[in-house]
Amino acid sequence: MDNTSQYKALDERYFMPAFSRDMAIVKGEGSKVWDGAGREYIDCVAGIAVCSTGHCHPAVVKAICDQAHELIHCSNLYYVPHQGDLAKKLVEITGMHKAFFANSGAEATDGALKLARVRTGRKKFVAFTHGFHGRTVGSLSVTHKPAIREPFEPLGMVKTFVEYGDVEGLRKVVDDDTAGVIVEPIQGEAGVIIPPDSFFEGIREVCDKSGALMIVDEVQTGMGRTGKWLAMQHTKVQPDIVTLAKGIASGFPMGALVAREGIEFKKSEHGSTFAGGPLACAAALATIGVIEKILPDVCRKGERFREGLSKYNPRVRGLMIGMTIGDKCPEIQKKCADAGVLVNCAADGNLRLVPPLTISDAEIDRVVEVIHGSLG
Ligand SMILES: *Cc1c(COP(=O)(O)O)cnc(C)c1O
Repeated sequence: MDNTSQYKALDERYFMPAFSRDMAIVKGEGSKVWDGAGREYIDCVAGIAVCSTGHCHPAVVKAICDQAHELIHCSNLYYVPHQGDLAKKLVEITGMHKAFFANSGAEATDGALKLARVRTGRKKFVAFTHGFHGRTVGSLSVTHKPAIREPFEPLGMVKTFVEYGDVEGLRKVVDDDTAGVIVEPIQGEAGVIIPPDSFFEGIREVCDKSGALMIVDEVQTGMGRTGKWLAMQHTKVQPDIVTLAKGIASGFPMGALVAREGIEFKKSEHGSTFAGGPLACAAALATIGVIEKILPDVCRKGERFREGLSKYNPRVRGLMIGMTIGDKCPEIQKKCADAGVLVNCAADGNLRLVPPLTISDAEIDRVVEVIHGSLG
């Protein structure tokens, strides 16, 4: 039986049409998902770089279920089970000093912007073209894409956009009222755009000279996606604030920010009813436990994709993979799905693959085969 038409009818009648979609995903296990008709797919979307331990990893399921039997929510008016352990773990793996929690990537961005403003006492931000930092009123103000931002201007933060990669342009606009520079280590929504390390060294230098804080948005690139806990760890640059979300808790909604010593929220400066709750923290700790074991293999798997797809000049860092294929991207996405592989079109005709970090070599080879079959 195919349930998809039921999903579709309810969606069309009762749900605001902000998304375009035509498939239902009803079950997942490891790198595989099943649609409403029971068809099986290898999932190289993974909830958009979220399900990094694969779907329904037993360790994550167990952590969530065990915690749900003990305590689902208690609020940050009290010490929260697992919260301190998770903060410690995040500090250790990122090399930062203290952590704070959020419920999503956008909220982590908002927290980072607030933290930069309150600690510097400055008002302005610099962000980069094609960058994506979220859709809340704060995070959208530093998200570049005019089509999604401009209808809502004026937005929360005063900002300037500089061309991604352009350190000289940055130098010209940062001044003594710049609270922070926010940047993705690899632009994900833009289609997996990987700048040279010198870009980040340049941002660091401009920030050090001006006293602005360097905020690195690792919502998509963090938590092992690129083969290290942070994509910035491929460079020698130390940011001031790092945001995390997508891959942090295997699909349980969660965001986080970590900051270097001296940069922290003080009493009443920020807060959240749900953020850092017991279930999210339990899911994140279990997720980190799984990733610790598979992290050493992520770059090798990425190279297997690179070799397999070399004909199409893929941009690869760990298991974050982009290929420019142009206008036919949606058609290729459809062809791949018909052949049992889910991939997704990011901006500007860029096909993006962000599979579970647990994907097997045999699954990688099958994905490569299907992409060759679809692209020719
Ligand atoms: C997805 C994403 C966000 C927003 O995360 P949400 O959880 O959708 O709010 C922010 N920054 C980057 C780099 C992202 O990829």
